[in-house]
Amino acid sequence: METMPCIAIEKKPPLSRNHVQAVKPRPLRRAPSSAARVRRLRWSGLCSLFLVLIAPVTAGEHPHVLVLYGYDRLLPAIVRMNAGLRETISPEVQISTEFLDYPRFSGESYARTVTRFLVAKYAAQPPDLIIAGGENALTFLLAKRAELFPRAGVVHMATRKYSLDLLPALPADVVGIPVEYDFSRTIELALRLHPRADRLVLVTGATPYDRSWETRLREEAPRFAGRVKVEFLAGLPTATVLKRLGELGTDAIIFSPGYFQDGTGKTFIPLKAAIGMVEAATAPFYAPSDTAIGIGIVGGYTPSFVAMGREAGLEANALLAGVAPQDLKLPKVMPTTLKLDWRQILRWGIAQHAIPDDAEIYFRAPTFLDAHRKEAISAAVVFLLQSGLIGWLLIERRRRQQAEQAEQQQRFELVHASRLAVAGELTASIAHEINQPLGAILNNADAAELILDSGPASDHTRREALRAILADIRHDDLRASEVIRRLRGLLAKHQVERQVFDLREATTDAVHLLRIEARRRRIEFILRVTPTPATMVGDRIQIQQVVIILLINAMDAIGDLPDDRRQVVISIEERLKRFLLSVRDRGCGIASEHPRQMFDSFFSTKHAGMGLGLSIAQTLVNAHKGRIWAEPTPDEGALFHVELPAIGAPGK
Ligand code: ADP
Repeated sequence: METMPCIAIEKKPPLSRNHVQAVKPRPLRRAPSSAARVRRLRWSGLCSLFLVLIAPVTAGEHPHVLVLYGYDRLLPAIVRMNAGLRETISPEVQISTEFLDYPRFSGESYARTVTRFLVAKYAAQPPDLIIAGGENALTFLLAKRAELFPRAGVVHMATRKYSLDLLPALPADVVGIPVEYDFSRTIELALRLHPRADRLVLVTGATPYDRSWETRLREEAPRFAGRVKVEFLAGLPTATVLKRLGELGTDAIIFSPGYFQDGTGKTFIPLKAAIGMVEAATAPFYAPSDTAIGIGIVGGYTPSFVAMGREAGLEANALLAGVAPQDLKLPKVMPTTLKLDWRQILRWGIAQHAIPDDAEIYFRAPTFLDAHRKEAISAAVVFLLQSGLIGWLLIERRRRQQAEQAEQQQRFELVHASRLAVAGELTASIAHEINQPLGAILNNADAAELILDSGPASDHTRREALRAILADIRHDDLRASEVIRRLRGLLAKHQVERQVFDLREATTDAVHLLRIEARRRRIEFILRVTPTPATMVGDRIQIQQVVIILLINAMDAIGDLPDDRRQVVISIEERLKRFLLSVRDRGCGIASEHPRQMFDSFFSTKHAGMGLGLSIAQTLVNAHKGRIWAEPTPDEGALFHVELPAIGAPGK
């Protein structure tokens, strides 16, 4: 067969002994899977074998069937019918195949020659049954049956009902399912699919068979004449046909079954003739044969040649198994299905909604989803999971950031609250510290007033006295503002800063702030600092807060101890680019199990302690990349160390 890129494999009816159901027409919808097809073929073969073995066959052990095709052995339709026949006919059957090669060979003398040849060839092995493939084979057999094999029954296939109706009634032992080409339905469909079409061109050939097509088409043509101009290209030379088809333009529709012979007498395989026409045509082409699907036609309602072969095989099995021909109860005609070429649908811009639902569509390129459904689903699932995971991670990250920010804010608030608490603790001593310079200022002001009242201000001695008083007032005022400055610095709510500052100065400031309280508690602070500035980077106030926490704890630890132990020593040393700030007291000391616990939040051994001081101090020191720890001193008391990196230290 010339070009059959895609052949639909139709459903095969089940084999049955009386063939009543076996040949019941059924819609040929979708090609079954090859596995299902193989299963069915095996089943069919076994059934056939069983039937032939148990049946009262008139023939011998291996019945002989002669398949006589009317045309060339390479006619695509014949190749398909033969394939279908071989699928269903019992493997026990011996098959002989002959071809009459119509229309290249025809006429009475040829018929006589072939008859003599067949009689001679099969004299020793006459067929038990003959299958006639195509109208030409059937008419030959009917004409020469008496001379050929009169006792052999005949099964015909691929014979048009139209042709059978023209013949005298068939003998009872000649059976088969006629074919009816539904070309009017095909043309109706074409007119629907191409609503702008204004011409219908019908092409037929020159043999009597071709002419019978023309006759039928002329009978039906008036149905379409009202809607389009109907034009026949019948029995013309192929060159003329091709030229005319090439000049049509796209507003025409072409319908042709192909032809066996053109107007010049040249013979063709109809499919070959159709291929030539399709190539030349400028308009959409429709045909009634399923062998033409794929050559460039849009499609048509067509019976299946494979199905015709299968049906003939089943009928032969039944007859050979002893079923009487009249009991076969065959369907009136072979079913037809609409077959369309998807590429042509696209080429001619056919509206897809106009395509009937039951159409079998060929050559539809699978969409990406059809071709890679599994991969696409897996990829989509992976993508969704991945997106979900990324989304979840982003949400988690955001939550974590928010939690960190909240924690940071809380820590900041806590640190500030702790400073307020310290200030509260120092209120009495601070008030005292401010009161002192204020009192001194007042006294000095009183003294100045007295001096002014006692004589003229021009007196040198008095002027000097007034100058001294004013200097005192300034000094006291500065003292008071210094206290307020320190306090304000401690209490101000400021964001964490990174600035260069002198640890020595910051510590001295903090010690001064607490010195008043220390004095009130009769405690002595001894400050031993480096001779040179201890420059570092960080938040000055936070480091001061650490010092204050350590000093208050030290003062608490000394408590009610005797005077000789009421001392706190604060020292700063520099060691390898790091400053070591130490606070030593001679108080109650640190219980051996406490050195680590002390730094936990809410750990306190004091009656009204909050247990937050050291934990805040540790947080602040850590934020400066330093460390804080405590160690018991040999002569009782506690020693706290804070190590902080100097400016220029690694990591700073
Ligand atoms: P609080 O002072 O409110 O108790 P801290 O966190 O500042 O909270 O101190 C925790 C605990 O550490 C104190 O209750 C105390 O037991 C111990 N501690 C701190 N400093 C000293 C010290 N200098 N001497 C002895 N124990 C101390």
